[in-house]
Amino acid sequence: MKKQGICILGATGSIGQNTLDVIAHNQDLFDVIALCAHRSFETLFEQCQKFEPAFAVLSDQEAAQKLQNLISGTSLKTQVLAGEEALCEVVSLASVDKVMSAIVGAKGLLPTLKAIEAGKVVLIANKEPLVMAGALMMQAAQAHGATILPVDSEHNAIFQCLPDHYRTGQTLPKTVRKVTLTASGGPFLHYPQEAFADITPSMACKHPNWKMGQKITVDCATLMNKGLEVIEASHLFSIKHDCIDVVVHPESLIHALVSYCDGSLLAQMGAHDMRIAISHSMAWPHRIASQAAFLDLVEVAKLNFLAPDTSKFPCLRLAYDAMSAGKAAPAVLNASNEVVVHAFLQGQVRFNAIPVIIEKVMNKLYDLSADTIEQVLQVDSIARNETLKEIRKF
Ligand code: NAD
Ligand code: MG
Repeated sequence: MKKQGICILGATGSIGQNTLDVIAHNQDLFDVIALCAHRSFETLFEQCQKFEPAFAVLSDQEAAQKLQNLISGTSLKTQVLAGEEALCEVVSLASVDKVMSAIVGAKGLLPTLKAIEAGKVVLIANKEPLVMAGALMMQAAQAHGATILPVDSEHNAIFQCLPDHYRTGQTLPKTVRKVTLTASGGPFLHYPQEAFADITPSMACKHPNWKMGQKITVDCATLMNKGLEVIEASHLFSIKHDCIDVVVHPESLIHALVSYCDGSLLAQMGAHDMRIAISHSMAWPHRIASQAAFLDLVEVAKLNFLAPDTSKFPCLRLAYDAMSAGKAAPAVLNASNEVVVHAFLQGQVRFNAIPVIIEKVMNKLYDLSADTIEQVLQVDSIARNETLKEIRKF
């Protein structure tokens, strides 16, 4: 494998740090060209000292100035850039071969799209842009010769269970009957629904299996994460929603399955460690060591599976509804969810109000169009405002 120039969007987050860990153990294969984040300048400074990127970008101007001050006191040659436009500039640099898209939320849409338009190999962890504008992103990849590789563990697992010649965006082989995403069920799988109103942010931020950023951890607790992933899968694998199943698998050791016409079910298994999917996407079509632990099946002994309960966790149903409704509905679902989860983390809304508010906003805005990126961004902004209004009413 030729040495690959890498740009990481969201370098200081959970996926970003795991990506840098994979790079640290494979220094001969990767060259860190640009590290980007929002305002965590101290973490970014430490990463710059260790990986010596050509560019460090913070979307927040003030934080970028603080990073500049820290770097000026060293012999580092890293150039500091500020602002959202700078994110879009570094992903397109000629020295960048691969872009890890790992910003959280809708803010990742424009830089990820720029990377696609620059024809890069784009490793997508940041699922929200695919939910908002998946069809437009997949079309752009086709038009600009970009390769999109899934990092989200379930989608990476599906990709691994498909034939070697399969590329994302293509229709699935006719021999594939359906794909199944597994869900851990989150911390409230067996928690009584009557007590959902009293769930606090700190309770919702404790995932049974994975250590991740706050937003996705709350999404796992409401099962919205699985809903977003169903929509994500529909775009990555060009598959209709009635061919995408969800099964609750509390051990999170099988990440997804692909069912073939002869009755075969291919599954991808592994420890719940994101470095497996990250390293797979970074090295594809090769494989490299990820430092993740190997599974001891005798120690695992048992795997459990159960159907998701959408009356207890309506967010999963809302995502299927949004996908059937099409048009702007998935973008509305995503924007509303981002705002209401933020409000929940601030203690402004109760846990059980999350799906109620999102559904109200979806019912109001189901008919908007989202045929261009400009329309998607407009829908995103309208849905955020509507959600804030609904939150105030609660
Ligand atoms: P996180 O909160 O840990 O990190 C988010 C990163 O995005 C940080 O580096 C932050 O600085 C950056 N960021 C936030 N807003 C930004 C902005 N406006 N401009 C530039 N950078 C910004 O999140 P995470 O858990 O690493 O998740 C990142 C994405 O990957 C999410 O979309 C999540 O759904 C997806 N994902 C995460 C995991 C996981 O294990 N953490 C697994 C699958 C998918
Ligand atoms: Mg996932």
